[in-house]
Amino acid sequence: MEVILVLFWLVMAFVVGGIAGKKGLSGCGWAIFGLLLWPVALIMVIMAKQTPKAAEEQALAYGGKKCPRCAEVVKSEAVVCRFCSYQFSFAAPSMSAADEMRDALGNFKRSSADIPKDVA
Ligand SMILES: [Zn+2]
Repeated sequence: MEVILVLFWLVMAFVVGGIAGKKGLSGCGWAIFGLLLWPVALIMVIMAKQTPKAAEEQALAYGGKKCPRCAEVVKSEAVVCRFCSYQFSFAAPSMSAADEMRDALGNFKRSSADIPKDVA
């Protein structure tokens, strides 16, 4: 019975550390705090705010894009940055892999034709 309690205590310490890590806080430090007093640590880490860096990484992971002018993360569909009014340019529709391959092969053929016969 004690073994199960100790294991549960350890798991809860890891849960506290994991939540802290996701919020950009020190996962190791919070896990140690969790080892000492996980119920308090769990409540505190849930209440803790995400660090700005972690929030930015999360926004990028969920399809945001970084504004090249002000470095704020905005929605990927944004045409204008909501922070600095930077106008995002629309990229031309990307070529398919087959088109890229054909293009590269065409360039290679052209460049190999330029090589004098006695060298090639
Ligand atoms: Zn911006």
